[in-house]
Amino acid sequence: MALFGGRKTVRVDADILVVGGGMAGCGATYEARYWGRDLKVVCVEKANIERSGAVAQGLYAINCYMGMQWNENQPEDFVRYATNDLMGLVREDLAYDIGRHVDATVHKFEEWGLPIMRDPKTGRYQREGKWQIMIHGESYKPIVAEAARKAASEVYNRIMVTHLLMDQKNRNRVAGAVGFNVRTGDFYVFKAKTVIVAAGGASHIFKPRSVGEGMGRTWYAPWSSASAYGLPIEIGAKMTQMENRIVLTRFKDGYGPVGAYFLHLKTYTQNAYGEQYEAKWYDDTKKLVGNYVDRHPVPTCLRNHALLKEVANGGGPIRMVTKEAFQDPHKETVGWENFLGMTIGQAVVWASQNIDPKHTNPELTTSEPYVMGSHATCSGAWSSGPEDYAPPEYRWGYNRMTTVEGLFAAGDASGGTPHKFSSGSFTEGRIAAKAAVNYMNDLGVEPQVDEGEIKRLEEQVFRPLENYRIGRNEIVAGTVSPSYILPIHALQRLEKLMDEYCGGITVNYMTNEPLLARGLELMEMLKEDADHIGAEDLHQLQRTWEFKHRLLASESVMHHTLFRTETRWPGYYYRGDHMKLDDENWHCFTLSRYDAETGKWTMEKAPVYHIVG
Ligand SMILES: Cc1cc2nc3c(=O)[nH]c(=O)nc-3n(C[C@H](O)[C@H](O)[C@H](O)COP(=O)(O)OP(=O)(O)OC[C@H]3O[C@@H](n4cnc5c(N)ncnc54)[C@H](O)[C@@H]3O)c2cc1C
Repeated sequence: MALFGGRKTVRVDADILVVGGGMAGCGATYEARYWGRDLKVVCVEKANIERSGAVAQGLYAINCYMGMQWNENQPEDFVRYATNDLMGLVREDLAYDIGRHVDATVHKFEEWGLPIMRDPKTGRYQREGKWQIMIHGESYKPIVAEAARKAASEVYNRIMVTHLLMDQKNRNRVAGAVGFNVRTGDFYVFKAKTVIVAAGGASHIFKPRSVGEGMGRTWYAPWSSASAYGLPIEIGAKMTQMENRIVLTRFKDGYGPVGAYFLHLKTYTQNAYGEQYEAKWYDDTKKLVGNYVDRHPVPTCLRNHALLKEVANGGGPIRMVTKEAFQDPHKETVGWENFLGMTIGQAVVWASQNIDPKHTNPELTTSEPYVMGSHATCSGAWSSGPEDYAPPEYRWGYNRMTTVEGLFAAGDASGGTPHKFSSGSFTEGRIAAKAAVNYMNDLGVEPQVDEGEIKRLEEQVFRPLENYRIGRNEIVAGTVSPSYILPIHALQRLEKLMDEYCGGITVNYMTNEPLLARGLELMEMLKEDADHIGAEDLHQLQRTWEFKHRLLASESVMHHTLFRTETRWPGYYYRGDHMKLDDENWHCFTLSRYDAETGKWTMEKAPVYHIVG
């Protein structure tokens, strides 16, 4: 097959293009229709929105709900909580904006048929913790997707978006996107007046604990492939807090969530000798981070830190004490149902390892790092804030508009706003879409796409198929060609590099300037080879572009980690050459901008405004 032989090009015109139909993308699609009755709203998704994204398998809890109707929490409380957990660095304007709207989103979910558990005594939603409410959530994603499907003019499933398009005249203005159908190989060109990126977070940029046969087993979904970062970075959008990768303490080998166990079943942890170890590391932690260790609740990273110290000191393995709680048949049921609704794999792992939590306290461990913007971490695009609440320095355009004109970000894609989770991500999609409609309405001249650019991108997108077709002639046996590398090999090289040089599991999350500098050198070599990936088929072509988005996101993580010369989040990673938190110099956001033409990164600081107090 010649490079373009037999392939159709499909052209789609949209007013609003939503890239990624996960939680934020569905929220954006739904809301865009509400405010833009006559607009053409198109959602494009690499899987099928029915079951795509991090919520694909379902969830057992909605982790962001204020409960304002019962005066349980106010948005200000939420901002304080998130800021505390992130060691002081949160875009409070964005977090407040989520807090004030998220309850309305959850009420919609219930209206659309999501079963939310109720406390039989009070009649209120059943709380799992201060911010979490419990749901029967196996069908959470299909319910949310139905709302998006009904709202969209068109949903394009199975289209992997590879690049964003720029306006021909204004090179800082978005004009659409291109990608390919992962089943038919057709090339798709979306011309759009505004684009909302909602393409999820990033797993598999650091080497996972589960390799070989278990490689697909990660905490964050293996299909979360960093497009939310790769797409905007490539066109020069400013990114923030990309060093703020997250490490999760989870049940060993299955990455099963621990929230319901701690919060609802009231389980606790102990070391190999039955001791509660966290208090032991109080003085050590205080030396690193000062009074942050005295905050309540103890920030997520610092709890990881205590676990890591205990294991390094010979106290491992750390176990969750389930034997007591599981004597109560109700709690035992809740414990199992928690997995069956969202992480069936953990139940299967326990069965395979002869672990019945009623009789054996299961081991916990810390995961490899992930990059995302909606959990206890806030990597993502630097976005403009709400007009009634953001300080002038955080406001240069429409709410959630990135530094690229007409490009909006939501969910994992949007930085500085942690603890959004599923409901907050959907909410942020809604917020971004409302602003995108306003942008559309105010739009003067429409953006124009450059046909030459589209042609260039088409050739680039499908080049790996051609590399393979030609290069495989040189192979006499096996799969190794002198002319190309396979996507899996590129990915594993990236994971190893990030792991060893940027603070992954192998080095106990430790890095420093010399390591990062060498890591960046090796990354340059990997980038050279990445131009020669060979893709055997469309599936491998998708893997290639997922890898390329991961590569760009990883490079950004490296630069941010190098720039922030302190250890702000011990337990997530350590700068060995700057082991202490340094509020005097680093109580700020880090921002980066990539210039695709020169390949150079520019780093800067931005102030943190504590608006809520
Ligand atoms: C294991 C786990 C447990 C969690 N537990 C909870 C919980 O208990 N409660 C809670 O509220 N939240 C929980 N969350 C968090 C929640 O799932 C996320 O916050 C939320 O899904 C983020 O929304 P998003 O839209 O940014 O990303 P996603 O929902 O992941 O959606 C991203 C979408 O973009 C698509 N996409 C990616 N790249 C491309 C591309 N190049 N082209 C086209 N489409 C693309 C993906 O296929 C996907 O559909 C959990 C997440 C995980 C992984």
